[in-house]
Amino acid sequence: MIKAIYPGSFDPITYGHLDIIERGLGVFDHVVVAVAHNIEKRGLFNLEERKALIQEAVRDHSRVTVDSFEGLLVDYVERVGGNVIIRGLRATSDFEYEFHMASINRHLNERFDTFFMMTAKDYFFVSSRTIKEVAMLGGSVKGLVPENVERALKIKFKTLVD
Ligand code: ADP
Repeated sequence: MIKAIYPGSFDPITYGHLDIIERGLGVFDHVVVAVAHNIEKRGLFNLEERKALIQEAVRDHSRVTVDSFEGLLVDYVERVGGNVIIRGLRATSDFEYEFHMASINRHLNERFDTFFMMTAKDYFFVSSRTIKEVAMLGGSVKGLVPENVERALKIKFKTLVD
C-alpha cells in the first residue's frame, strides 16, 4: 500500500489543492493531507479551522485523511508510515522553492521521494494567498475554493472588519 503525504499550509484549502488530492488518489492508495503547524507563520485560519475546512471538503473521499504536524516533514512521514511526499507545481516560480525543499528532504531522509503533480489548467493562478487577498477586498472566489471555504472566508473577513 502506498501512502502519500501531501503537506502544506492550506490557509485555506483551494480547488487547486483539491485537484492535486484527487489526482493523487488516482496514483496512490491513500493520501494524508498534512497541515504544517508553523508557530512563526500566523495564518488567517488557525490549525483547527484549516483542518476542519479540509475535512469537510474531502468528506466524500474515503482514502483521504487529514492530519497536522510540527517539526521536520521527513520525521512526520516516517512516524506515520508514509512512502512518498506529494507537492503541486504551478509556475516555474514554484519550481525553485520546491526543488530546494525536495532536495533538503532527500538529504535528510533518502527513503522518501517527492512526487510533483502539475496544476490543472483551471487552477494555475489559484493560491491561498491570492484567494485571501481577493476575499478580503470583497471579490468573488466562487469556483476557486470549495463552498465551505467561501462561507468561512465571508465570516472571517466580516468579523475582521466589524
Ligand atoms: P506551502 O506553504 O507549503 O507552499 P500551500 O498550502 O501554499 O503550502 O501549498 C501546498 C502545496 O500545494 C504546494 O506544493 C503548492 O505548490 C501546491 N499548490 C497550491 N496551490 C496549487 C494549485 N492551484 N495547483 C496546484 N498545486 C497547488
